[in-house]
Amino acid sequence: MFIDSHCHLDFPELQADSANVFALMEANQVTHALTISTTLKTFPDVLRVAESHANLWCSAGVHPDEQIDDHEPTVEELLRMADHPKVVAIGETGLDYYRLPEPLDWQRERFRTHIRAARACAKPLVIHTRSASADTLTLMREESAGEAGGVMHCFTESQEVARASLDLGFYISLSGIVTFKSARDLQEVARMIPLDRLLIETDSPYLAPTPHRGKMNQPGYVRHVAEFVAQLRGVSVETIAEATTANFYRLFKATSAA
Ligand SMILES: [Zn+2]
Ligand SMILES: [Zn+2]
Repeated sequence: MFIDSHCHLDFPELQADSANVFALMEANQVTHALTISTTLKTFPDVLRVAESHANLWCSAGVHPDEQIDDHEPTVEELLRMADHPKVVAIGETGLDYYRLPEPLDWQRERFRTHIRAARACAKPLVIHTRSASADTLTLMREESAGEAGGVMHCFTESQEVARASLDLGFYISLSGIVTFKSARDLQEVARMIPLDRLLIETDSPYLAPTPHRGKMNQPGYVRHVAEFVAQLRGVSVETIAEATTANFYRLFKATSAA
């Protein structure tokens, strides 16, 4: 049994094919998924998807690359959004210096707002970091993000960044990127993450893992991430499935009827 800890089921690609998406989850024994909020405007859609499936949860937050939302979220607004049993995390939030040029003060301020909200409601953070690891860790420390805890999602950073994240009490989530031939350094990181801090995800509809690279990604494919990581670490896929599932429930305090 596998859990996809990060996907975007409200995105049109996945919505358009949702019957097949849920069928493949079942076929691949992907029993649950966490669907992730990226804008204020689409949060109601994210929540609706989570509410209509017993095996789904969602997060509340605004992605660091999002520039066309109504306004910047406030702590109070994030707390209102998070005040729902289906909402088990704050994010995705973080820093992304790859997609957008400086000045990005608004992005750093938005990240601080999310950390403050997560601490206030005691829900874990889903953190996105790209080409910005030093500042991401600095802000996490300055805002005591460790008090809320959370996960470094779709991790692609160095062993040093992984260690620093673990030291702050965070979990590390591996996506299909770890299965790519070119991802040698990341595969080394995947070997060193303590088993009790490891999560798996798809970040679908993007970044389909090998052997589906180039196709639309979907939660059912998280199984391939688990299989690849198991092989890398020389353990059974059941070991990875059990550990990542237990870690997911521990981190997100998720309860489910399904
Ligand atoms: Zn992300
Ligand atoms: Zn995402």
